[in-house]
Amino acid sequence: MALQALTSRHGGLSLAHTDVIVLGAGIVGTSIAVHLAKRGVAVALIDRRDPGEETSYGNAGIIEGNTVFPAAFPSDIGELLRIALKRSPVANYHLAQLPWVAPWLLAFRAASKPARLVETATLMRPLLARAVAEHEALAAEAGAQSHLSHRGWLKLYRTDKAFAALAPELELAARFGIANVPLDRGGAQALEPALAGVFRHAVHWTGAVSVNNPLALTRAYAARFAALGGLSLAGDARTLHRAHPYWRVDTSAGPVDGRDVVIALGPWTPDVIAPLGIKLPLAVKRGYHRHYRAAGNATLSRPVLDTENGYVLAPMEQGIRLTTGVEFAARDASPTPVQFGRLLPAARALFPLGEAVEPKPWLGARPCFADSRPVIARAPRQRGLWLAYGHAHWGLTLGPVTGRLIAEMMTGTTPFCDPKPYSAERFTN
Ligand SMILES: Cc1cc2nc3c(=O)[nH]c(=O)nc-3n(C[C@H](O)[C@H](O)[C@H](O)COP(=O)(O)OP(=O)(O)OC[C@H]3O[C@@H](n4cnc5c(N)ncnc54)[C@H](O)[C@@H]3O)c2cc1C
Repeated sequence: MALQALTSRHGGLSLAHTDVIVLGAGIVGTSIAVHLAKRGVAVALIDRRDPGEETSYGNAGIIEGNTVFPAAFPSDIGELLRIALKRSPVANYHLAQLPWVAPWLLAFRAASKPARLVETATLMRPLLARAVAEHEALAAEAGAQSHLSHRGWLKLYRTDKAFAALAPELELAARFGIANVPLDRGGAQALEPALAGVFRHAVHWTGAVSVNNPLALTRAYAARFAALGGLSLAGDARTLHRAHPYWRVDTSAGPVDGRDVVIALGPWTPDVIAPLGIKLPLAVKRGYHRHYRAAGNATLSRPVLDTENGYVLAPMEQGIRLTTGVEFAARDASPTPVQFGRLLPAARALFPLGEAVEPKPWLGARPCFADSRPVIARAPRQRGLWLAYGHAHWGLTLGPVTGRLIAEMMTGTTPFCDPKPYSAERFTN
């Protein structure tokens, strides 16, 4: 049983007790809850919304186990200038946010040097290498395989220069044994006949899996958690406090006490850990999406990245999902979806997009550390507190593998990989 109602009363409501409270029911928190429940741990999964409705709703749906390098700070001066002048589809920024984000951007730029990219790729490999297999296992248990497609994804390059710049990444991919097929325009069009020939090169990363409805996938994992006896509750994570010897959170069903707490609140994690004295250098890269109908009888069977323009076209149940690059702005600032104006001409020239499905774009916030590694670890100086956040561009990809790693750490099983690269101490020591 997930929660044992205690005989004591608290504020007129029953006080319940569980082994572990997981705060945040995005893809990361939900996957953690399933992995703990599978190991016989009593878990309460608490969110103010239903599972998967925030950042995990709106991504491009790519399970990128084949990723080599993380997103990097632009090295091309022309591109930087276009971003500064707000002409680039790849990135946008709010001027008022720049002073706040400047130290993070400097750290991000340092982490984008070629040697550091190789270091990050190497440190992330154990997680990424297992990402697809862990999703497949969870999807099979959850009866959600129909949401996964095994056609890989295509990255397109409009210029020879952009394609040539890929050489170090392809070399490292070969060393890691990551399958990919470089293609010319015709080769890519053989896979996706609706793509117009506005590009010169492509790489088909054949091992990637794509999801046709990320919300449905998280919901299916949440249903699996419920089938394992786990309890999902509505509550505000900011009510987390110590109630010795436990941690306590107020929920709509009354207060819940847990021996351990995992904080998996994505971009909202600082709201809960900062009051506990934990300050780690997280920034958000906001991103938008909008669904479009395909014009005529055009179809798309796998996600496609237009590299130089920074957007993805991904086939979803709702339509063709067009996701934007990044926006540096305060997490809660009003949406400014100006990137659509900058990228839509390129997107329409590539694929026959019809009318938009929704009246306005969706906005989400990728929780990012400058070194592109998440924190999956015990929290510093707080007994029984665990952190799992900062998955940046790879949160959908890494949800289940994060669940497995942290569940192994919490239950005293030997973790399947060394968790040190994902520690919080890398920022505090
Ligand atoms: C445009 C875009 C495209 C992307 N494409 C990809 C992709 O193709 N592949 C990939 O791997 N990743 C992608 N990502 C990244 C990925 O979506 C995120 O890294 C991931 O969803 C983060 O998951 P999470 O569970 O950490 O956070 P979330 O999904 O945001 O979950 C956090 C949860 O915390 C809850 N919460 C917040 N505050 C409180 C509170 N006070 N009380 C209670 N609950 C609270 C929220 O309701 C939410 O459910 C993309 C992101 C964007 C924005």
